Amino acid sequence: MPSAPLLEVQDLRMFFPVRGGLWHRTRAWCRAVDGVSLTLRAGETLGLVGESGCGKSTLGKAIVRLHAPTSGQIRFNGTDLVPLSQRALKPLRRELQMVFQDPGESLNARHSVAELLAEPFAIHRIGTAAERPARVAALLERVGLPASAADRFPFEFSGGQRQRLGIARALALNPKLIICDEPVSALDVSIQGQILNLLLDLQRELGLAYLFIAHDLAVVKHVSDRVAVMYLGHIVETADADALYRRAAHPYTRALLSAIPVATPRHRSTRVVLGGDVPSPIHPPTGCPFHPRCPHAQDRCRLEKPVLRTPSPDRPEHQVACHFDL
Ligand code: SF4
Repeated sequence: MPSAPLLEVQDLRMFFPVRGGLWHRTRAWCRAVDGVSLTLRAGETLGLVGESGCGKSTLGKAIVRLHAPTSGQIRFNGTDLVPLSQRALKPLRRELQMVFQDPGESLNARHSVAELLAEPFAIHRIGTAAERPARVAALLERVGLPASAADRFPFEFSGGQRQRLGIARALALNPKLIICDEPVSALDVSIQGQILNLLLDLQRELGLAYLFIAHDLAVVKHVSDRVAVMYLGHIVETADADALYRRAAHPYTRALLSAIPVATPRHRSTRVVLGGDVPSPIHPPTGCPFHPRCPHAQDRCRLEKPVLRTPSPDRPEHQVACHFDL
């Protein structure tokens, strides 16, 4: 029997005001995340995929409350984080961490690695100052770096090593869930594999859950139990990873899959090239958000927004936001 979700996001909206004019008034709203619901169980990895600007990083930052959501619920271990003050959030932050694409976002270049990795213990008053060097050394060992790294500064490390430091800092407080926001996108392909393997090893050892955000379905395939596909602030398809890669039901997912390079030309599927640009989240289209680019769009698509539904009763976890069985 599946365990209760560790994370349950319900109808989450994250709108940003677009200001202008002499009085800097709100002229419009950028609907970065527009009614997203998803679940994540302990020890599970949910891949979250979509093009740049689709709202996936904003969603990740809203879940850890780096953004204050406009509306909706974020239930973590049974507690709704949305109404909580920063003070009330503090104890929960220990269990909910983030790894960024650019580890520079979490690593202050003016501090040594020893200071950076000891900081979470100091903020949360964990252990004594005398114990911290040993805790830092243990974190470094856990991510495959030598204890001598503690005396150096982030700029002295390669991109892959800096990402190991970002992961070490995220691990410091024994989290249950880590939001990994494009953690390998900025790395060389050979280093990407090392970081992905490190994340998988840590998950096995520590029972971590990951929300793994990426723009590339090929990367997500290697690490995810389930995958959610995001377009213009909406989840348009979600399924077990195997089902999604074998039987994608949404035209947008199929287009993303067709762009994955394959090793053998015999197995290459026809590349689906989407026309037009991603519409602005400030002026989203009516009806289905994908209709201006969808090769199957019909009149109904321009008028009526599709809701997530199960395309086949034998795959109850598979959901797609499309009016039609294509
Ligand atoms: Fe395409 Fe219409 Fe389905 Fe949207 S609802 S994905 S526009 S066919």
